Amino acid sequence: MIHRFAQAELEAYLDEALPAEDMARIEKALRDDPKLAGQLAALNTRRDAGLHSLGAIWRRHRLSCPSREQLGSYLLGTLAREMADYVEFHVQVVGCRFCRANLADLEAQQAEADEVVQSRRRKYFQSSAGYLRRRRR
Ligand SMILES: [Zn+2]
Repeated sequence: MIHRFAQAELEAYLDEALPAEDMARIEKALRDDPKLAGQLAALNTRRDAGLHSLGAIWRRHRLSCPSREQLGSYLLGTLAREMADYVEFHVQVVGCRFCRANLADLEAQQAEADEVVQSRRRKYFQSSAGYLRRRRR
């Protein structure tokens, strides 16, 4: 009997992230298919070596959305590469509404802060330009 499972399905199995009946289906297949067991063992070894797919990372983190600090760093582009990839996946692909709202809010805040800096700079240049003009007279 040949069992065919998608890699994503096996990954989810390793994460125990499948519905109970699917977990049981794979467990049963594992018992009478040594090839499948080998496939799963290889997959597990690769994961231990740190080669996680984004999907696997997401499943592991799915209960915890990135923190507001992490989202802020993501917007500033100062987040570590792996975490930034995760945030992107979480927001773009998974489309977490909570984090999207959080990001939009943070973006508005940052735009506002930028505006304050810009106008302060403008005022400074205007006053120093005025000062120079007065001195030249
Ligand atoms: Zn989220």
